[in-house]
Amino acid sequence: MRPAASVSITIIGGGFAGTALALHLTRQPGPLPLEVALVEPRPAPGPGLAYSVPWPELLLNVRPRSLSVWADQPAHFAEWLARQPEAAGGLPEFAPRATYGRYLAQELATALAAPAANGVRLRHYATTAVAAPLLPDGRRSVQLADGRTLPSHATVLALGNFPPAPPTAPGTDQRYLLHPGYHADPWAPGTLARIGADEEVLLIGAGLTTVDMLLALRAQGHRAPVQVVARRGGWPTVHGPASLPAYPNFYPELAAETTVAGVLGHLRQHLVLAAAQGLDWRPVLDALRPDLGRIWAAWPLAEQRRFLRHLAGRWSRARHRMAPSAAALLAEMQASGQLRTQPGRVVEIEPAASGLRVGVAQPGQATKWLAAPHVVCCTGPLLDYSRLAVPLVQQLRASGCLTPDALRLGITTDASGALLGADGRPSAGGLFTLGASRRPAYFESTAVPELRQQAAALAVVLAQRYRRNF
Ligand SMILES: Cc1cc2nc3c(=O)[nH]c(=O)nc-3n(C[C@H](O)[C@H](O)[C@H](O)COP(=O)(O)OP(=O)(O)OC[C@H]3O[C@@H](n4cnc5c(N)ncnc54)[C@H](O)[C@@H]3O)c2cc1C
Repeated sequence: MRPAASVSITIIGGGFAGTALALHLTRQPGPLPLEVALVEPRPAPGPGLAYSVPWPELLLNVRPRSLSVWADQPAHFAEWLARQPEAAGGLPEFAPRATYGRYLAQELATALAAPAANGVRLRHYATTAVAAPLLPDGRRSVQLADGRTLPSHATVLALGNFPPAPPTAPGTDQRYLLHPGYHADPWAPGTLARIGADEEVLLIGAGLTTVDMLLALRAQGHRAPVQVVARRGGWPTVHGPASLPAYPNFYPELAAETTVAGVLGHLRQHLVLAAAQGLDWRPVLDALRPDLGRIWAAWPLAEQRRFLRHLAGRWSRARHRMAPSAAALLAEMQASGQLRTQPGRVVEIEPAASGLRVGVAQPGQATKWLAAPHVVCCTGPLLDYSRLAVPLVQQLRASGCLTPDALRLGITTDASGALLGADGRPSAGGLFTLGASRRPAYFESTAVPELRQQAAALAVVLAQRYRRNF
């Protein structure tokens, strides 16, 4: 007979990170009769924000062999994909994001259907968590928007990415935020459906979200001109061919470096060395990928700040690459004149007769005014937990158990992902997080490979912590 469960874990957020944690819990050594609640308002948990997109043109920006949900089975997704209709003509180099969403939803559906062999029982609550106050017995009471409460020994925040902050400075006139032509969240349901095929669009930012918007607009038959305001004028780089030879890891050479300049020096040497051998620059950067967290953590706060101020933008363009097919579409739109790029920084937005006027500043030049009926903010997610106006975050922040970090990149945690209070000690009531919120610890806490690792490690911590209850 199944032993009575005495421990409940609530995972808030059922995107990739929450799903990966739930799945990894089902594979911990048993017996482990945990009740695991996965709170996710989307009807089908698993895909989250990134992999819910309906357009098959929106591709993963990582190759299949790096996308298994299981940390110890790297080929799992590639093997699953090989059995899908999308692979009828051969394994796609960059599969549709929606296909990956289906993979995650299927893995999770199997785990939700019956208790795991180790005793873990998963349940999905299709709603939002709005608060998680501490109970007198040391647990937290996770309060759901539908009125239910989940008393929880451990509560894990897997909240993912939040919509971007307004592009203009706080304190300026922001009435445009209420204008029907201003789209504050590119991923809000229905955003693109409100843009007609012959209506001009202005996209703020030139990162991967902007590339997605261009692909999605094209997929829905958009024909009108698109303007992109790009702070530094550059686009993300493009993935090289899969056949590029790997570059050897050189982390040991820079392990003792505690400055940005020191690390850059080693990187530059290797880029020169690689170029002299006729090798591509991308594998040189990729060689350091497993160690990026350690490099970041070795920098004192002033160095981390220096990196953010001077290099983070360039780093992001070099590191987060687009699929070659996306680059080809961009080139085609530029060549036809449909896509124009305006370098500069958006400083003002105001309603105009037929939409919005957008003021763009460039050093030493007068503000240039552009106009479009639709403006979409694609500047990247708001990471600053001190500014997030989300009820759950506000409640945890106000009660002192969620501390935004000094650089405003996410949440202050220990190495396991436990939330720390302002005194630097773990917050009471077993609060953890994983995903983008852990950027203060790793800087790169974005893509599947690092999130999968966090999920696997946190599953071990939680299983070890609660096994003694049985
Ligand atoms: C558009 C886009 C494309 C990307 N493409 C790639 C890619 O190709 N390859 C790659 O490796 N990475 C990609 N990423 C990075 C991506 O962030 C990670 O791969 C991963 O999907 C993040 O998962 P997550 O669970 O942390 O966040 P999300 O997928 O955002 O999931 C968080 C979930 O939490 C839920 N939630 C939030 N608040 C609450 C609450 N209070 N109560 C209940 N539920 C809540 C949300 O509904 C959401 O579903 C992409 C990111 C984006 C935004």
